Amino acid sequence: TLTKTYEPLTETTAIELAIKLHFFENSTSINCKEIGDGNLNLVFHLTDENNKGVIIKQALPYAKVVGESWPLTLKRAQIESNSLKEAAKHVPSLVPTVYYTDEHLAITVMEDLSHLTISRKGLMNGEDYPLLSEHIGQFLAKTLFYTSDFGLNQQKKKLLQQQFANPELCKITEDLVFTDPFYDSETNNFERELLPVVSEIWNDSSLKLEVAKLKYSFLTNGEALLHGDLHTGSIFASNNETKVIDPEFAFFGPIGFDVGQFFANLIVNALSREPQKQGVLFDHINKTWDVFTTEFTKQWTLDSVEYFTKTEGYLSYVFQSILEDTIGYAGCELIRRTIGLAHVADLDNIPSIETRLKAKTKALQLGKYFILNRANIHSVEDFIQVSLQHV
Ligand code: ADP
Ligand code: MG
Ligand code: MG
Ligand code: MG
Repeated sequence: TLTKTYEPLTETTAIELAIKLHFFENSTSINCKEIGDGNLNLVFHLTDENNKGVIIKQALPYAKVVGESWPLTLKRAQIESNSLKEAAKHVPSLVPTVYYTDEHLAITVMEDLSHLTISRKGLMNGEDYPLLSEHIGQFLAKTLFYTSDFGLNQQKKKLLQQQFANPELCKITEDLVFTDPFYDSETNNFERELLPVVSEIWNDSSLKLEVAKLKYSFLTNGEALLHGDLHTGSIFASNNETKVIDPEFAFFGPIGFDVGQFFANLIVNALSREPQKQGVLFDHINKTWDVFTTEFTKQWTLDSVEYFTKTEGYLSYVFQSILEDTIGYAGCELIRRTIGLAHVADLDNIPSIETRLKAKTKALQLGKYFILNRANIHSVEDFIQVSLQHV
């Protein structure tokens, strides 16, 4: 390793580091800009005069969004780079290449993806990204199957599970997704006009019971190595490429959590669009599920390591429970992105207050509906049908 003591990099020391690591010739003039827009980390973009670029992402020892009062483990940098490397075994074209990591500095040096756009931003600008669902369906099928007990030797899986114990980052999700939005917590953040519908959520004991079940499943159901933060802000896209970044929340959890977060973030984008332009988001949901289940089935047939996968009816049982989880977690994501600590720009940037409040109210009602009715929605078509009735 390069240094023993952690220090946050500056644009100047990031350049020195890149030279020391031979990413650039000493002589070249290097430009460096901190471009992090996330909540937890520094991201340096370095380029030389030939426009050759590299990214250095560094974890901070606290959550930037809250300030130094919220300490956060540096180990997440290692989790992130290990997760990117694990994903690269299965879907090398769908993640940035990791060039170098340093545990002490909490850095990941990786492929520069500046030629792509963060898909949330692109979708907000009306882009449709025709290959997004094909690629994310593949990403989900491969990364989840090959780290689950269906596709990975069960002893190896348990060892990998130890490597990806991620208690502090999981705790953030446990609080911000499953706990805080469902009571009057200080971390919540919403327009006061929403209070009547928010109060309904806080007072709905059957809803809170279902959320408790989903949270418990998140805590205990280590099915596969999840990305853990698979919203549209963690996906770079163009019309022909897709790259998934930012898996610092990776851990072994329920498969439906990744799928559900992705679906919910497509839905919040749909809610921000005029009706004629929403269809493409639901086509993406449909296609993602189709590609996910088709690929997962192929892998199940070809690469299964478990004898019970031969049991008749078992695969469709697995898909049914993944779909039920997906719908429940999508519901939690819709609610927490509307009234919790971390919002989405899709909804927050709707300029007219009236339109914005309408969209947010729909997000909350749809979220509630998903959580309460997830066991009675038996296909992705029904899931889309229900969504269309709300948007
Ligand atoms: P955080 O964990 O803080 O959310 P991200 O990994 O999401 O950090 O990165 C924050 C931002 O930095 C991204 O939205 C993107 O604009 C930029 N970024 C991150 N990784 C890359 C990359 N490999 N290439 C180009 N830009 C990147
Ligand atoms: Mg991010
Ligand atoms: Mg992150
Ligand atoms: Mg059922």
